[in-house]
Amino acid sequence: MAIIGIDLGTTNSLVSVWENGHAVLIPNRFGSCLTPSVVAEAAGEICVGAPAKEKRLTEPENSAALFKRYMGLEAQAPLGDKWYSPQELSAMILRQLKRDAQEYLGEPVEEAIISVPAYFNDEQRFVTRQAGVLAGLKVERLINEPSAAALACRSLNGDEDETFLVIDFGGGTLDVSVVECFDQVIEILAVSGDNRLGGEEFDKRIARHFCREHQIEYGLLEPKQQQMLLKSAELCKRQMTEKSAALMEWTGPDGKKGLILTAEDMVRISAPLLKRMEEIVHKALRDVSMTAEDIDKVVLVGGTCRMPVIRQYIRHFMGAEPVMVKNPDEVVALGVGTYAGIKERREDIKDIVLTDICPFTLGIGVRDDSSGELIMSPVIERNCILPFSHEEEFWPVSKTQTHVAVRIYQGEAMYCKKNLFLGKIDIAVPEGSEEHRKVTVRFTYDINGILEVEAANEAGQKARKLIVNSQIRMSEKELERKIEQIKNLKYMSRDEEWNTLVLARGERLYEECLGEDRRVVAANTQWLRTVMKGKNPAAVRAARKQVERIFEYLEEKLGIDEETIGEET
Ligand code: AMP
Repeated sequence: MAIIGIDLGTTNSLVSVWENGHAVLIPNRFGSCLTPSVVAEAAGEICVGAPAKEKRLTEPENSAALFKRYMGLEAQAPLGDKWYSPQELSAMILRQLKRDAQEYLGEPVEEAIISVPAYFNDEQRFVTRQAGVLAGLKVERLINEPSAAALACRSLNGDEDETFLVIDFGGGTLDVSVVECFDQVIEILAVSGDNRLGGEEFDKRIARHFCREHQIEYGLLEPKQQQMLLKSAELCKRQMTEKSAALMEWTGPDGKKGLILTAEDMVRISAPLLKRMEEIVHKALRDVSMTAEDIDKVVLVGGTCRMPVIRQYIRHFMGAEPVMVKNPDEVVALGVGTYAGIKERREDIKDIVLTDICPFTLGIGVRDDSSGELIMSPVIERNCILPFSHEEEFWPVSKTQTHVAVRIYQGEAMYCKKNLFLGKIDIAVPEGSEEHRKVTVRFTYDINGILEVEAANEAGQKARKLIVNSQIRMSEKELERKIEQIKNLKYMSRDEEWNTLVLARGERLYEECLGEDRRVVAANTQWLRTVMKGKNPAAVRAARKQVERIFEYLEEKLGIDEETIGEET
């Protein structure tokens, strides 16, 4: 049975499989390999992907997106009259990807490998696996996104021994990794990143620039208007990939407004974000005592790398022309699919070894007498190779102490309060001499980047903990109940999803068009609704195709390029 590889992205998700000597992407029901990571609800039914993305533009209150950013937090998003956790929403996406894969492969799929951002902490990794379980998938392995990208780049690049830098600039995040390849070994030497720096930051800056030029207060706009403005900004950003200037248009409460953006404007608007990107690259290089000259090749992946300003800036500070992979949005997914092939021990790939690293420092807090603050005492430092286990010895601060609380933190700051608190283990300390009161703390980091901490005293007592918040760890019973719940949600059928997609597209187009075009959109939307009432599937399909063609024509006229929707077959 095939193992599938899933890139569960902030903006789009993809699924792949190892087939005939290479990783291939699996198309979804709409014929596209990109499934927007958006879930929406309409009349008590759930839809996922392209129709949900469309609905989000006109009904943001009935849809959820960008939930990957909240994985591991106690956040909930409303959909209809119910609230869902980020892992439940992710499970709905995963369930859909699993179904698409099953349809493509013609057999059931039970196991998946899912990619996660390198900076994901224990809890985020844990809930990602949990999302897989909720979707009815076994997830034995998670793989860091930059490592997956490196694996795919290696396959695309051939077998040369080289050291390369992968800059993965996606919709929501930036990941940079230094990778060394020799023989069949792909070694990740260092990773660095920013989980708040992605293509959307550029959209926001463009949108704010537009508002400034038109004296509009962005923060005072309704969520729906902000969404439309961000969409126009994104469209303009994409157009600037091919042109040196683009017209950004947006219809607000006071009518239609336009602004021409030039390449120089883009440089100015993007400057603070480009600087942040440069700092992240330097951090990764510094960690392995390298400079730009030690890098044989700079490989760009992720949709945001398509922006010419990014390429120019990288060329400027790395002193070499970066290589853009052909399909930057697909590289991580192809890497996960390659890893699925390795895990299946496929003959053509089984000898490849990928070594991954722990991207952040893990340690415990010790009291600093001079400041009274807890300071970080590292047990595992960033960039150590996984799996990894290491122990350190500690002594209680005061002679009267009967217990020590081992506080576990993740992060690079000296003061614990600036790092991420992961958990605490209490362990008794027996009375006696200094040597007797020693506590040994062992950190074990598994291949998926999940941490286990064990504390032992000299009396032979041990306390052990998987560092995952108890609220996140569900009991078997609760997990089973949730699996059933996700399974039994009412999902739209393929036809209903197509209808929803076209109707939502009509609603959005209506808001974007003016005059005669607007009347055409309204008439066609109403006509399709009337045909749908007749409940004749063949007639609905024919009407939908016709309406779609008209909408496509109008979108082309407006300069909209819907890449996540394929051709209806
Ligand atoms: P990813 O998470 O890798 O799918 O990246 C998606 C991001 O890439 C989004 O922020 C898109 O706006 C951005 N993107 C996709 N295509 C282009 C393009 N042609 N020019 C600029 N940005 C793009």
